Amino acid sequence: MTPAQTEKTNLLGLSVEKLAAFFETLGEKRFRAVQVVKWIHQNGVNDFAEMTNVSKNLRRKLTEVAEIRAPEVLGQWDSADGTRKWLIRAGSGSAIETVFIPDGDRGTLCVSSQVGCSLDCSFCATGKQGFNRDLSAAEIIGQVWLACQSFGQLQPKGPRKVTNVVMMGMGEPLLNFDNVVDAMNLMMEDNAYGISKRRVTLSTSGVVPALDRLADVTDVSLAISLHAPTDALRDTLVPINKKYPIATLLDSAKRYIERMPDTHRKMTIEYTLIREVNDRPEHAQQLAELLRDIPVKINLIPFNPFELSGYQRVSNNALRRFQQILLDKGFTVTVRTTRGDDIDAACGQLAGSVNDRTRRAERYRDAERPVRLLG
Ligand code: SF4
Repeated sequence: MTPAQTEKTNLLGLSVEKLAAFFETLGEKRFRAVQVVKWIHQNGVNDFAEMTNVSKNLRRKLTEVAEIRAPEVLGQWDSADGTRKWLIRAGSGSAIETVFIPDGDRGTLCVSSQVGCSLDCSFCATGKQGFNRDLSAAEIIGQVWLACQSFGQLQPKGPRKVTNVVMMGMGEPLLNFDNVVDAMNLMMEDNAYGISKRRVTLSTSGVVPALDRLADVTDVSLAISLHAPTDALRDTLVPINKKYPIATLLDSAKRYIERMPDTHRKMTIEYTLIREVNDRPEHAQQLAELLRDIPVKINLIPFNPFELSGYQRVSNNALRRFQQILLDKGFTVTVRTTRGDDIDAACGQLAGSVNDRTRRAERYRDAERPVRLLG
């Protein structure tokens, strides 16, 4: 890439508001932003010459100072079950992953927010890769753009394949707050993808100060990656718990939900079940007690083993028993079926290839993490 090209503004990640401000700096009318956002996100156009309702003069100006640059796809894999995974270049020898999971008339895109992750959850393949950098808003919304493009879906009308987006890929979204919020707002923008706020979900491991700010800027659905009913156990699985323990996290999540305009909204509790670590009946009972007065639905995720995880998949019996205890207490409980296992796209398996600034991956290779079994 030449120096002249690097100076161009990438319009892919700009909201209507930011694009309007950019057009003002060019001496153009703000309403042009809506036209251009539609061309980019509804028609999949990345060449200004194709924007036929934009004046020739503006198209020429834009070609000089701006570009529409989607992330580069390094590879694409299709699972026998319809799951599709993309490996996307993230610079400096690193890559991120995006996964599409079809389920009847619903299609969920699992989007990454960072290259690697600094939070080091002990059951997570991404956590073991270490952290490299935050993704830009263009790189985040670019995953949606690429997925829609790959399905030939970038048409303003007709059925959509990507109906839902979950910020549950690589990275902790709340540690890349501004870029994630910009990208999510574009997902929901009527002139872009128009996905309902109920169908855009941010999943967090518990960055409480950022969660406290979230309701000021958006009202997407919320998922909490809990994975344990007690601080003693969660400290070993999700290290950020030592800083923001369960009670603090749930209080913050409750405040977020209470500020939602829709009073029927519930948060999702994600609970990865790991054999003989957090899958015992007493864990289910503790979880039921913990969540007793909170509007939640619980999503149980059987752990997907990967190299060096040191953990095992929950047995079917333990999974059924755990679910039944929660159902008996009146909770809505779903079990996430493993999808895309044959292409390493199952939950928790996203690892890409991260040029780790923290050198964490080497530590894991040198000394396999001991597994603590807690009662
Ligand atoms: S589970 Fe999420 S927050 Fe934890 S290490 Fe993995 S990507 Fe990061």
